Amino acid sequence: MNHVYLLLGSNEGNRVQWLQSALDGLHRFATLEKQSAVYETAAWGLESQPDFLNMVIEIKTSLSAPELLVEIQQLETELERQRTIVWGPRTLDIDILFFNDEVIQTDHLIVPHPGIPVRRFTLEPLCEIAPHFLHPSYGKTVQQLLDYCTDHLETKRLGMINAIVSTR
Ligand code: AMP
Repeated sequence: MNHVYLLLGSNEGNRVQWLQSALDGLHRFATLEKQSAVYETAAWGLESQPDFLNMVIEIKTSLSAPELLVEIQQLETELERQRTIVWGPRTLDIDILFFNDEVIQTDHLIVPHPGIPVRRFTLEPLCEIAPHFLHPSYGKTVQQLLDYCTDHLETKRLGMINAIVSTR
């Protein structure tokens, strides 16, 4: 079995519902082991867009990393993600953060996800469920990466997904 950390994000429509639909859909090919709270985070990259909801989950799956990417992209497509603007609004985005402690670099997949050390919106929820996980390339724990993170875009912990009510 493979242990994988995923980042889920949404900043369009009913954001809580998109995250919940992703959690429901993931059951087809993975078992949910842990989940962080949901965080409201300022958009990174293209900043003049609505705030995101983000959460990190740990899953167990028998799929290989490339197989998992295919399933994730299928799920994103089913949940109507519109790929129009790079870093622009999206109903649902799923990134593979860590796949065991493997380092993977292909045309389609880079693991660990290169955004981890520079994105507070990833590190905060990740640190909630995996503070001691060692980044296989940097040799630092998630907690250490968060301590050294120079991204100061705002993140706000809203609570666990079943306890928050979506306003949009
Ligand atoms: P994004 O628009 O940020 O979701 O990027 C999607 C593209 O990133 C897809 O074409 C993937 O093949 C590629 N990609 C590379 N590494 C990863 C990763 N670790 N997790 C998810 N997508 C990835």
